[in-house]
Amino acid sequence: MEFDLIDLIRERTHVPRADVSLGIGDDAALLTPPPDQQLVVAIDTLVDGVHFPQGTSPQDIGWKALAVNLSDLAAMGATPAWAVLSLTLPASHRDFVQAFIAGFESLARQHEVALVGGDTTQGPLTVGVCVHGFVPRDRALRRTGAQVGDTIFITGTPGDAAGGLRQHDGHDASSDILRARLNRPTPRVAAGVALRGLARACIDVSDGLLADLTHVCHASGVGAEVDAHRLPLSAALQSCVGPAAARELALTGGDDYELCFTAAPDQADAVMRALAGTDGGVTPIGRITAGDRVRVCDADGRDITPRDRGWEHFHA
Ligand code: ADP
Ligand code: MG
Repeated sequence: MEFDLIDLIRERTHVPRADVSLGIGDDAALLTPPPDQQLVVAIDTLVDGVHFPQGTSPQDIGWKALAVNLSDLAAMGATPAWAVLSLTLPASHRDFVQAFIAGFESLARQHEVALVGGDTTQGPLTVGVCVHGFVPRDRALRRTGAQVGDTIFITGTPGDAAGGLRQHDGHDASSDILRARLNRPTPRVAAGVALRGLARACIDVSDGLLADLTHVCHASGVGAEVDAHRLPLSAALQSCVGPAAARELALTGGDDYELCFTAAPDQADAVMRALAGTDGGVTPIGRITAGDRVRVCDADGRDITPRDRGWEHFHA
């Protein structure tokens, strides 16, 4: 049964790449990385009911499993190339695999990512994807480079995915938009590549803007101030939950897969120009400060930092 599923996966994945000498079918894949680049590797696992709501369509699970991984490559400024897929399924469901691969492939084709291998086992629904990409030597975006005075930026409109999770019964156009942001996040690959040499620090927002910005601050040994009134809020989110809750979700909601990054203030115009043509846009939202606190300010500079900073899997 497992072999039927592997054949099905092989038949339905067709991203051709010259650097894949041997893909699905042997004991392992044979791949040729470009000689002058560094290989960038990331893996993320999605568990049914934890990383996507139970009842999420198989197409959306396939899309999201790849998207969250491409987002990690984007946050490093890498160009994606290859993926391997570890699929654990409760039973041999051809229909599930067919739909899953359709969702996976629609995103893989957009980024020319070849599925080159994987593993298929039986058990509770769990999807692990490992992705590989390239970045020119020493040009990767790290979490460690933020400096006091840097401007903080965010791509897209954070909070939408968390809004989508709360709108699971909504039937209006705004709810549909938010659910699509939750189920089919857009990895900001072009933005990450465009930020090579411009951003000093970068992270993708999976746990929530404040939580992930805090990771950058810890890694860089700095603090941050986010201006709540400058947060880019989508019309859909504001219409579904109202402006105050929208701001709260933008700060603390997870699963957006936007890029949060810092750049020297005199590079701000260059950042805006470099990302002008990319999906989702980009907005300056604050600055890096001395110390180690991550604060949220209102328009008058008052501290309005929320207590709950975002989703964490293992609470202390
Ligand atoms: P082995 O027993 O040698 O590990 P498998 O039967 O697990 O081999 O896999 C056979 C081939 O199918 C390998 O090339 C493997 O990478 C590929 N494969 C297995 N499962 C998947 C999957 N879910 N997605 C993509 N390729 C897969
Ligand atoms: Mg195997």
